[in-house]
Amino acid sequence: MSRIVVIGAGVGGLAAAVRLAEAGHDVTVHERAATVGGKLGRYERDGFRFDTGPSLLTLPQVFADLGLSLDAVPLDPVVRHVFPDGSVLDSSSDPDVFLGRIAAAFGPAGAADWARFWRRAGRIWAASWGSVLQREVSPAALARLSWRVGDLAAIAPGRSLRALGRRYLRDPRLRMLLDRYATYTGTDPRRAPAALAAIPYAELAFGGWYLPGGLGVLATALLDRCAALGVTVHTSSPVTAVRTRSGRVAGVGLSSGSELPADMVVSDVDAATLYRDLLPSPDRLARLADRSLAGFVMLLGVRGSTPELAHHTVFFPRDYDAEFDAVFGSPGHGRRARPPSDPAVFVTRATDPAVHPPGTEAWFVLVNAPRHGTAAGAVDWRRPGLAESYGTHILNVLAARGVDVRDRLVFRETRTPADLAEATAAPGGAIYGTAGGLLRPANRGPVDGLFLVGGSAHPGGGLPMVTLSAKIVADRIGPAVG
Ligand SMILES: Cc1cc2nc3c(=O)[nH]c(=O)nc-3n(C[C@H](O)[C@H](O)[C@H](O)COP(=O)(O)OP(=O)(O)OC[C@H]3O[C@@H](n4cnc5c(N)ncnc54)[C@H](O)[C@@H]3O)c2cc1C
Repeated sequence: MSRIVVIGAGVGGLAAAVRLAEAGHDVTVHERAATVGGKLGRYERDGFRFDTGPSLLTLPQVFADLGLSLDAVPLDPVVRHVFPDGSVLDSSSDPDVFLGRIAAAFGPAGAADWARFWRRAGRIWAASWGSVLQREVSPAALARLSWRVGDLAAIAPGRSLRALGRRYLRDPRLRMLLDRYATYTGTDPRRAPAALAAIPYAELAFGGWYLPGGLGVLATALLDRCAALGVTVHTSSPVTAVRTRSGRVAGVGLSSGSELPADMVVSDVDAATLYRDLLPSPDRLARLADRSLAGFVMLLGVRGSTPELAHHTVFFPRDYDAEFDAVFGSPGHGRRARPPSDPAVFVTRATDPAVHPPGTEAWFVLVNAPRHGTAAGAVDWRRPGLAESYGTHILNVLAARGVDVRDRLVFRETRTPADLAEATAAPGGAIYGTAGGLLRPANRGPVDGLFLVGGSAHPGGGLPMVTLSAKIVADRIGPAVG
């Protein structure tokens, strides 16, 4: 049995704690915040309950594997897409139903295109699931895949998600729908690898799910499972350093000044923070992947009901590329990042009486946003008045797209990337840690006994991916002996 300290009680950290305790290890979790869950945040006000982070649960089998009994409810539509020309397309986890809806909205050619794309996406998913998502990867391992896995042709390294969309989909609205999945890993579809077509495949083949009471109940379920397995979780307990001795992990230092010996350390902290602050490791820092985009969130208490909304509704802009140009900027060409003026607006509104008082609705509104900071690729979200005026602007954008909620507000609160950075220690408030590609910081750290889980490490951000990172690390550590 090893003494293992997990740093951070985000979903990745808690999932790692569960798996390692199941494997017979002595596990302790230290979390800097007062509550667990990290980006899977919750907020309550005046009888309204909001998820401040994730609102869509995918790949529920990944969570069932942790021994959690989640009362997941399938969503239909998974997402309602409202396009700038006013057309509407509801996605479905039944491929035939979805094809029928595409044919009805865009005609039979659109459905035929999607069917061809879907077959390709299935091959990409199968290759990713088998070779990338459930195991450690390194540049050498990926290179080996190119001749070992015939399916690598499906993954098409070097091709972008945008290029894949252009190859298969003639209707610009279907291309837009596909482009949006790049943002699930925090990146720009023009730079995202074609392999990300695995994301819509996973979402639509295995469904999109809601957890009654809000997705935050997942954090409670993980915490309960930790308790049942004898894991001790300390909140308000920041780790200040990873201690090493002779090239091996020896323990962690806590902000209280005490030292905690450990045989192994699993970090759910952003990899950049780990390598810069907790275990200075400049070589690793230099090799870190791009940062993910951030998000501007509004939590709205709304009077009345809004039947035109599905559980998830996205309202697309006329010029999607202008949004990505604004969010990422182009510092090399002298163009700073800025809040996009006409972004896609994603609205989540659960028809769950547990999350709003009678006669009202709780809305979570999300738009892609530049990260917080003062560099050219970021925006200083602490600038006085910015959050307020941008929130007003987004409500005006929504009104222009047909959903005017401005005179039905009970209250409105904002969560900027700066707020997320403060609450969860996510650098710049990046939603998904690192953006895009197949190669992220590895799950094994630079010293023996140090492992990385969470959105900034392989296989990336999003609830199922960070949960898979915990599986990869627990498999690597293996069961307790003796
Ligand atoms: C607005 C928003 C919407 C999203 N929507 C979705 C969605 O619909 N579906 C989906 O699947 N995913 C979504 N995500 C992404 C998802 O929330 C994340 O990928 C996932 O929750 C990240 O988990 P993690 O394990 O990487 O840890 P994090 O949640 O980043 O947690 C890391 C934890 O480590 C703690 N910590 C940091 N430093 C220290 C230290 N020194 N000592 C101790 N503790 C420390 C932090 O306080 C934090 O609790 C969304 C995220 C956001 C913000």
